[in-house]
This record gives sequence, structure tokens and C-alpha cells, in this order.
Amino acid sequence: MLSIRKSINKRMAKEMGHTSTKGCTTYEFFNSVKERISKDWLKPDHFTTQFLSGHGSFKSYLFERGLSEDPDCKCGAEQSNKHILFECTEVDEIRRPLKQKVMSAGHAWPCELSVMVLDEGLFRELGAFARKYLEKEQSDPTEQI
Ligand SMILES: [Zn+2]
Repeated sequence: MLSIRKSINKRMAKEMGHTSTKGCTTYEFFNSVKERISKDWLKPDHFTTQFLSGHGSFKSYLFERGLSEDPDCKCGAEQSNKHILFECTEVDEIRRPLKQKVMSAGHAWPCELSVMVLDEGLFRELGAFARKYLEKEQSDPTEQI
């Protein structure tokens, strides 16, 4: 896991130097690389990394890179990491535990992205959501490119 942490730290440092990059939301999760490193329980995996960076299996991201024919979600809105996290009605069901966790911790919904990494419990719930969503997407035959 150490190498994954090192690589996301490296990637974040790089992205923070290029905050104009469209679709980059890592900066909204963490105010600084120092803050990121101070959270030693925070172990991004294949799934959370996609939501934290905005770089992943999201159609607007894939579309910008010529990897998808359209940037829109099944629901018709532009599909980004934030759309999936907060808006998409297609994932209401799998989002429910995350939404409940955030609200029971005393935050509004939709929340600031930084709320998702405030503590280990919130991050774990984000992780569970990210995994469920991305595994579902990857197993859906209508989504094959
Ligand atoms: Zn949608």
C-alpha cells in the first residue's frame, strides 16, 4: 500500500501545480499535500483514487480524452465524479449509506468534497460507495466502450 500512497501524493503534488486542469478535483478534497500526509489512515485504492482525482471511469473525463462517444450519464446529465457522488438518480440506492454517514456526522448534503476525508469513518464510507459504483459500472454490458 505504501507505493500507492506515494504515487497519489506525487500525483497530487503534480496536479496542485496545474490546478487549471479541467476535471481535477483532488485540490477540493485536501487543502495541502501536508494535510493529506497527516492522515495516515487514508489509503486510497483503485476506486477511491478515481473519485478523489476525478480521473477515472466518468464519461465527461473519458469524453475529453476521446475514450467515450459522449460525456453524458444514463440519466442525461454530464457525468463527472461529483455528478455520481451527489446528483445521479441512477445511484441513489448505493449512495444512501454515504449520504447518511455524512449527515449523521452533522454535515449538509450535498457536502463539500473535503468532508469526505475528514475522518476515517467518512472516508471508509466513500470507499464503499466508490467500489460499489465502479464495480457496477464495469460489470454493466451496456457501458462497454
Ligand atoms: Zn447520472
